[in-house]
Amino acid sequence: MGLTATEPDLRDAEGEPILLNHKTNHTNIQKESNVMSDKIFIFDTTLRDAEQTPGAALNLEEKLEIAKHLAKLNVDIIEAGFPVSSPGDFDAVERIANEVEGPEICALSRVVEKDITIAWRAIKDALKPRIHTFVGTSPIHRGGITRTSREETLKMAIDAVAYAKSLCAGHPNATVEFSPMDAARTEPSYLHEVVEATIDAGATVINIPDTVGYAMPSEFGQLIADIFANVPNIDKAIISVHCHNDLGMAVANSIAAIKNGARQVECTVNGLGERAGNTSLEEIVMVIRTRQDHFKGVHTGINIKEIIPISRRVSRTMGIPVQPNKAIVGANAFAHSSGIHQDGVIKQRDTFEIIAPEDVGLKESLIVLSPRSGRNALKHRLAALGYEMTPEQLDKIYERFLAVADKKKAVHDADLEAIMRDEVRSIPEVFHFEYIQVVSGTKISPTTTVGVRTEAGVIEEASTGDGPVDAAYKAIDRIAKIPLTLTDYQIRSVTEGKDAIGEVTIKVQDNGHSIIGHGASTDIIEASAKAYIDAINKVVHLRYE
Ligand code: MN
Repeated sequence: MGLTATEPDLRDAEGEPILLNHKTNHTNIQKESNVMSDKIFIFDTTLRDAEQTPGAALNLEEKLEIAKHLAKLNVDIIEAGFPVSSPGDFDAVERIANEVEGPEICALSRVVEKDITIAWRAIKDALKPRIHTFVGTSPIHRGGITRTSREETLKMAIDAVAYAKSLCAGHPNATVEFSPMDAARTEPSYLHEVVEATIDAGATVINIPDTVGYAMPSEFGQLIADIFANVPNIDKAIISVHCHNDLGMAVANSIAAIKNGARQVECTVNGLGERAGNTSLEEIVMVIRTRQDHFKGVHTGINIKEIIPISRRVSRTMGIPVQPNKAIVGANAFAHSSGIHQDGVIKQRDTFEIIAPEDVGLKESLIVLSPRSGRNALKHRLAALGYEMTPEQLDKIYERFLAVADKKKAVHDADLEAIMRDEVRSIPEVFHFEYIQVVSGTKISPTTTVGVRTEAGVIEEASTGDGPVDAAYKAIDRIAKIPLTLTDYQIRSVTEGKDAIGEVTIKVQDNGHSIIGHGASTDIIEASAKAYIDAINKVVHLRYE
């Protein structure tokens, strides 16, 4: 490995260069030792921390789909939820534990016996279950949340870990993780005491959270180095970090922690999460991979070709768009707009690109399907995009494809993905969109007629409204008789051009639940109606499942 000119050339006993965070005090640096693995465990908390994002609530099927995709991405641990928080969360964690193979399946719990019992009940049948229990250890959390002394807090942590460990005893692969919440603002000597005691009690992963996103990289790296230097039994546990992005430092702080010996990073797809979000999975993974000169063999097991696909899936399912300039996964992350840059990239790609877009799963396909494309070409293209389907599903998709191809002539990958999202539903369709007719103009109030198929046959209703979409929603309300409060409406064009497919994403409120609906069509009123019907089907599923 080549050290850069600004780094002092420090070497260990074997003459190997020592990895440095060069802003920290060299004497306390945790150097790479032979006992420490170079593997960074990726702990994904999209389904727990990110699911807490306002308006991001997912239904069980959506959580299961994301968990399966996370397994394809090859994350090491999936934090599937917080089972005691609601029966819905319990069910989702249990289904994920029972059905998703590969990663460890983790359930969160406070240091409360009942929480831990319920967390364990949800994951006990997983091949690799993990109980993650936490308590706030900083003065501000002890004073403001648990209202306990240092000694009481310590005892709660030890008892919780010991109890979790006892539940895991009969399982060959079960593990216990402990988090001293708000570790970054906890008195260091007390933090060391808590870490040592919880390792003694049986925790094999100790997670150090910067819960409020307050730490600076040099400071956070030092915090990790000090834990290695001051906790005598630290070799019996993996040190993990959980950083928040309130000051935009989550990835930088996680990197500083890795350089000082942390070997698990808790992160989320698209950096979603409470407030400003968590460490972004795609950024931490690609930093480590792209800057191997700094990481010297430290690596993750992530299947990076799934990075863009899962980013899009999470964005769509949670109804939270990715900012266009977001590193790695933003729409502009690989777009070169200035003439000099375009010219450079065409002549030699690495002039302005440090990551090859196809490495992270961005498929710039030159294959464009047309109305003359056969079923096989469609099947082949969808397989390349990661969609597998039954012959019956393919028939349905092909019909839809032909309808779009007739209007659009050239059908791009993004169009196909929109069609797939629109046609392949994860829940039963009690209401199915059939047709729409709009009468609109400058001097008349718009009237929309909608036909919806139900068990009783096709029902047609018409309504006027403030605009054709409003009229369509009123007509659908008359059919479904499930009036909902619309809280968000977004429309985006999937590809370029006047004939592009429009994809509509809406959010509705139902008894405090936020529900997302999607619809796609070359006609935006039709896409809007489909999105509303999708949301209604989800409400029916939620209420009566
Ligand atoms: Mn968090």
